[in-house]
Amino acid sequence: MAEPELVDVVVVGLGVGGEEVAGRLAEAGLTVVGVERDLVGGECPYWGCIPSKMMIRAANALAEARRVNELAGSAQVQPEWAPVAKRIREEATDTWNDQVAVDRFTGKGGRFLRGSGRLDGPGQVRVGEQVFRARHGIVLGTGTRPSVPPIDGLVDTPYWTNHQAIEVEELPETLLILGGGAIGLELAQVFARFGVRVTVVEALDRVLALEEPEASEVAAAALRADGVEIRAGVKAERVSHDGSTFTVHSGDQECRAERLLVVTGRRAHLDELGLETVGVDASQRYLPVDDRMHVTDAIWAVGDVTGEGAFTHIAMYQASIVVADLLDHARHAGGGADPSGTASVVGGAMGAVSAVGGATATPGPAGAAGTVPRADYRALPRVTFTDPEVGAVGLTEKQARERGINVQVGFAQLSSSARGWIHKAGNEGFIKLVADADQGVLIGATSVGPAGGEVLSALVVAVHAAVPLSQLRHMIYAYPTFHRAIEDALRDLS
Ligand SMILES: Cc1cc2nc3c(=O)[nH]c(=O)nc-3n(C[C@H](O)[C@H](O)[C@H](O)COP(=O)(O)OP(=O)(O)OC[C@H]3O[C@@H](n4cnc5c(N)ncnc54)[C@H](O)[C@@H]3O)c2cc1C
Repeated sequence: MAEPELVDVVVVGLGVGGEEVAGRLAEAGLTVVGVERDLVGGECPYWGCIPSKMMIRAANALAEARRVNELAGSAQVQPEWAPVAKRIREEATDTWNDQVAVDRFTGKGGRFLRGSGRLDGPGQVRVGEQVFRARHGIVLGTGTRPSVPPIDGLVDTPYWTNHQAIEVEELPETLLILGGGAIGLELAQVFARFGVRVTVVEALDRVLALEEPEASEVAAAALRADGVEIRAGVKAERVSHDGSTFTVHSGDQECRAERLLVVTGRRAHLDELGLETVGVDASQRYLPVDDRMHVTDAIWAVGDVTGEGAFTHIAMYQASIVVADLLDHARHAGGGADPSGTASVVGGAMGAVSAVGGATATPGPAGAAGTVPRADYRALPRVTFTDPEVGAVGLTEKQARERGINVQVGFAQLSSSARGWIHKAGNEGFIKLVADADQGVLIGATSVGPAGGEVLSALVVAVHAAVPLSQLRHMIYAYPTFHRAIEDALRDLS
């Protein structure tokens, strides 16, 4: 058997997180091997955030045009999917080709390997016949794949995951979506606005079940207004396909459609990573990490695989910490950020995301002991890009009460604010604040509205920096903005 090749770092999985780590370590002068078995950049640029938001942009343009009739005369709207599919193919994904991303990584000095990486004992990664020994560390950025629920008959049918939904060139007439979370609702609204008759089946008693109940209500009402049928509290028990039609059975209820999209969650596949060779339990749902993303000695993990939140901004945030920590380790080990070093990362199509503005957290100068930032998820923002957008940060009211916090809640309807009233058509939404009355700070907030995700940023700062409520109350809020509703909600806190 060939001797392992010595490098500084190996990154396995060049999705959002892995590509960022691998590229930055290579730029710092380490020898980095980046291993990716599919497309460098991962889910976000090819089948996730970017193409789905292009679809949403197009669908929202249709919805705005339809609002002309209420506000500015009349407009006739003739939806056409071909320009959307073309934009996704040509502008977003290069027809699902990652050459640009591969070149970007190798241009930074990284060494790219197409293949599946797995741990091969402490400090080693195997990719096919090649084995690498990582002098400074191994980074696992292997992400997640769609989790398909064990519903009788489902696996034998030609159901869609997000991949087929994003790649679709011709829309079906009818679509059933299993799963009323963020991805299910975003895609349901897009397809409905393009004329598809969509039904969402959700096993829990409400859509967006992880968010505030008021947010679920507004989102469900908005989708219904677009013609989406929502069946919440319906547990799919059996799925069948007769060659042209899917049927989802639940008790004596049946739903039928030409296509079935399954978006019921995502799952890390730890059993493929050789974790047992380094003494890590591979039967866990995710790879637990500490606040510097350590899994175990000289192994870091980044992104969805850590289970800390399946968002591109989490992967980028964690990547910054991994880079700082790994460079710190390299420096203390004497290798430094030195061109002779070797690093390998698995996973990596992150360039497209960076190009679109994905990179967020910038750690302090790496290397000085004690300056490596530690992960803090208290102010984790999340946005569901339906129309209206549902933005949220920190704890919901229920989560805060379950923790025994002395909770105060403030609420303001967007339509009652000056801007909401002016906006009229499409002004559904609200601000909900969750405060810790003893500490006098916000610990959570929800912002629903036409620009709900943007308005959220002020609330993220408030939660992140624990800005005293007294300060928030005595701030000046520009008139007439949507974010002025925050001031109304602060007044309502009791
Ligand atoms: C439809 C949809 C919409 C989304 N919208 C948003 C959004 O608006 N905002 C947001 O923040 N997030 C969004 N997300 C989530 C976002 O895409 C993920 O959080 C992000 O891609 C996670 O990055 P990652 O690097 O952890 O994993 P991934 O992007 O999944 O990348 C992991 C990579 O590792 C590779 N890999 C796995 N195992 C191996 C192995 N053994 N060897 C080599 N390579 C391997 C995979 O091929 C993959 O390329 C969306 C997701 C979906 C599905």
